[in-house]
Formats: sequence, structure tokens, C-alpha cells
Amino acid sequence: MIRPVALPVSIRPLPGETVVGYVGRLAPANGLTFRDLRLHIRDLGKLPETNPDVEKVPGLVEALGGLAAGHFAKHAMKHYMFVRCSHYGWSPGRCRRCSQPQTPRTECLRCSAGTPTTTRRRGAGVCLHHRRWHISGRDVDVARYSEFGRAERWMSGKLWFHGIALHTGELQLAVRLLLAALRDSPDAAERAQLRADEFGVSLEGAYEDALLCVYPEAVALTGILIDPEYLRYLLSPRYKSRDQVEIMQAAVAGVLGGTGGRHLREISRLVVERSQNAVMAAYGAKKAYGVKTISCGLDKALLASARSNRACLLRHLDTVRMPSSWDAPPSWGAPRNSILNRARLLPDDLDFPLPAPSRDSSGSADVDGEARSDYRVMPEHDTDGAGARPRHDEPFADKRELVLTLGERA
Ligand SMILES: [Zn+2]
Ligand SMILES: [Zn+2]
Repeated sequence: MIRPVALPVSIRPLPGETVVGYVGRLAPANGLTFRDLRLHIRDLGKLPETNPDVEKVPGLVEALGGLAAGHFAKHAMKHYMFVRCSHYGWSPGRCRRCSQPQTPRTECLRCSAGTPTTTRRRGAGVCLHHRRWHISGRDVDVARYSEFGRAERWMSGKLWFHGIALHTGELQLAVRLLLAALRDSPDAAERAQLRADEFGVSLEGAYEDALLCVYPEAVALTGILIDPEYLRYLLSPRYKSRDQVEIMQAAVAGVLGGTGGRHLREISRLVVERSQNAVMAAYGAKKAYGVKTISCGLDKALLASARSNRACLLRHLDTVRMPSSWDAPPSWGAPRNSILNRARLLPDDLDFPLPAPSRDSSGSADVDGEARSDYRVMPEHDTDGAGARPRHDEPFADKRELVLTLGERA
């Protein structure tokens, strides 16, 4: 391929910027529309007539932008996620073969000089330079809240090294727990509502809006939930489930500075039950499909079960702290290493009904009526086909058990 002549004006790509995002900024800098430049790249790169994907020709874009050859590939690697794969004994690491980029998200408009773009850079929703919340196309000033900056550092630091990002499920789980707890805790709910009013979003709107309102708490809670010692107690079959539900409640209530109540108890019970079912499924995993008696190693079995049962907490369990075996009959075959290594992580399937807000937040007005909350906050962020697609013999938590009638709309 002939390297095209660079456009007159060159701009520097942002850290982790996507090729298409860069093209979107390069075009106006040179007096072109995005469409014109994209069509030009399509013709140069002989891309399909309809819907040409400029991500497929980074070399051309590097030439047009006057960048060094291989710029995008070299810099993308720095922002690749930590994964657990067979090449590193299923412990977190950045593997050249298996690491994947984060799902693209909209970048801080001040960093991109006002032209919208997308990046896959390490971290989550806050620009630490400008103190702006920038995902989902939003541009919200969070400078007044120092806890947002601290949470962002935690996300791009410790949590990042555990393979946690906006799309991997742990934050979604934390937000879900916090939203339930807010219904039990009027003081905390008021604080969250004040933030929601200031940011101009709804606590009960899209997941990203709820995340914006409780971001510092969600990150703190995620840090607690994935602590290996905490998780050992939460998910080991050695302990009583009632106690385990209580420690989950305590963790959530502690982050919010409240005590928790009926709503939090219900959702904690559902999450613990589902995660424990997934742990038991891991103990019953066979080495491969078609193998009759040989068990799968627990490290791999936990990851396989986390994926099949959409139970993200299992990915953080430390097998050294767990019983090496448990009385679970071999029941299903773990997928091949190659499938697990490249599996795209998805959030937990948390679409069970959340109790609707009740006027009586003390939780004394339990209602066994038929009213169901249609509240949904957990979209699937990524369904690229390599995600949690179960094999026919993989066990599933029975979703019907999770559809409970929890309360009545106020
Ligand atoms: Zn690997
Ligand atoms: Zn910025």
C-alpha cells in the first residue's frame, strides 16, 4: 500500500484514542467534514462501499495525520486490560495474546479541545486534569467533589490491575446494591439526590446516570467486594448463607454510612445465592466436555462458572483461600482454554426486579401483592459474540427463582 501524503494540519492523538475518534478530530482541523475524510480513507484503503470501518486501516490514518507508523497499535497496548488467562496460570496479568482493550467511551471535551472523540484509555469516567465526568457523551463538572478524583485514581490503579473497567460487571453490581440500599437510607438517598439534581440526571434513569450519582461509593464498594479475604467469607460453602448475606449488607451499608434495610437485604440475598450457585457449579466442573470424572482445576472452573452464570465476583476469588474440593458431583465440562482466554467479560445478569421506592422507607410495609417494579438499570455493554454464550451443558442459575415480587409501587 502506498503511504498517502499527510494532511496539512496534524493533531496529536489523545492517550488510548480510537482511530475513528482521531479521524473525527483530524477532519475539522483540516477544514473537512468527518464524512469527507472517511470517504477519502475508504477509497484509499479499498474499504467496503457501505459502512467503511476506519478502525481497520490505522496505517492510513497514521499517514494522513503525520504520525509514526504503528502509533495506534503501540499506544493501544499500554491501555489493554488485565486478564486472567491460561498463559499466566489464571491470575491477573497483561497478556500479549489475550489482553483486550476497554470498550470505547466518550472522552473529556476539554482534553479534545471541544471536538467529541472516543478513547479506550485506562480508567473510567472522570478526567483527572479537568475534573469532568465524560462518559456517555456527558460533560459534567465534578470539581467540587474531591471523592470523584480519588475514586478515579482507585479505578485506574488498584481496580485496573484486577481487570475491572466500566464494562466488566463489578461496578454494575455495586451500583445495583447501592441503589437498593438508598431505598432504605433516607439520609444517603438525599445526598445522592442532591448530586443527581446538581448534575441534571435521574438516579432512576440509565445505568450511567446512576453511576454518576454514586460513583465514589460504587468504586469503594467494588474495592471491598473483590477483597480476597472478604470474598472468601462471602462465597465459601463453609459458612452459613444467612451470615454471608449479612456481611454483604454490612459492606454496602457501611459505604453509605447507613444501616441497610429490607431492600438491601433482599438484593444481597439474591446476589449471594446466585454467586454461591456459581461456586458450587465450579466445584462440579469437569476438565472438558465429554470427560466423565476428571475435575477441572478450581482456578479455571471459577472463571468458567463466572462467565457461564454471569457472576463477576467469582473472577476475584482466591482459590488458595477456598476448599480445594467440595462435595459436588461432576456435572458439566469446562470450555477450552482458548475460549476462556478470549471471552469478553459481561456484567452480571441483574435484571431481576428492584423494589420500587416506597413511602415507608423503614421497610415495615412489606407487601405480598402483585405489583412488580419494572425498574431496569443494567444494560449489556458489549455483546460482540465472544462473551458469555453458554454451552448447552453449562449449568445456569434458574432465573425464575430470581423473579420475586418484592414490593409495591408507591
Ligand atoms: Zn494469555
Ligand atoms: Zn480533560
